[in-house]
Amino acid sequence: MGKERLDRVLSHLGVGSRSEVRRMARAGRVKVDGQVVLDTSSKLDPERAHIEVDGTPLAYRPYFHLVLNKPAGYITSTRDKEGVPVTALLPASWQRPDWMPVGRLDKDTEGLLLLTTHGELAHRLTHPRWKVPKRYYVELEAPATPEDVEVFASGELSLDGEPLKPAELRLGPDPRRVELTLLEGRFHQVKRMFAQRGNRVLYLRRVAFGPLELPDGLPVGVARALSEAELEALY
Ligand code: URA
Repeated sequence: MGKERLDRVLSHLGVGSRSEVRRMARAGRVKVDGQVVLDTSSKLDPERAHIEVDGTPLAYRPYFHLVLNKPAGYITSTRDKEGVPVTALLPASWQRPDWMPVGRLDKDTEGLLLLTTHGELAHRLTHPRWKVPKRYYVELEAPATPEDVEVFASGELSLDGEPLKPAELRLGPDPRRVELTLLEGRFHQVKRMFAQRGNRVLYLRRVAFGPLELPDGLPVGVARALSEAELEALY
């Protein structure tokens, strides 16, 4: 790998935006190979340099992973075909051509969307064989019923002639606000499952994908790099 500007390397590693990392460096918080570096326009080889921020070494990573709290109105595609892609929400320093969204969300669905540059990971997490659970918070037009819970759990439903895997529906104190966990990701699956029960989804938010939970306090429309613990849980 060639040399890259230090501010670019730091922001790609999720330390902060380019202007944030410049400010951090000017404050003497960034060291490269043991030396404080005040000027982040200097270039280095990220695979070889030993970078520290506030004394903590940063590991170079060949892949990048973000968790985005997707707002309604954006499409889960990286190309601008039928609308504005979710990647348009990322700051300039995180723009790159190889982001892959992991599991589609409809244009009007909000919540947890993992973006990665690691194709193999994206493939594994979305392959039906691995049955990665996806949990949704759902607001419904009519109250969900204990019968819905049974039907969803039984695996009796099918979509497009293919049986669905058992799904876990949890009714809270207000049965119009429920949580549904799926082990697959068919097209419009949550909306179509409730439509089969004569109900209608008014609002949908993904709150968990496998071991990843939608981070508390991550504002809608904002992405952040995965933590080491989150990455370890995913791999
Ligand atoms: N199910 C849906 O109907 N829509 C989504 O965006 C995700 C799951």
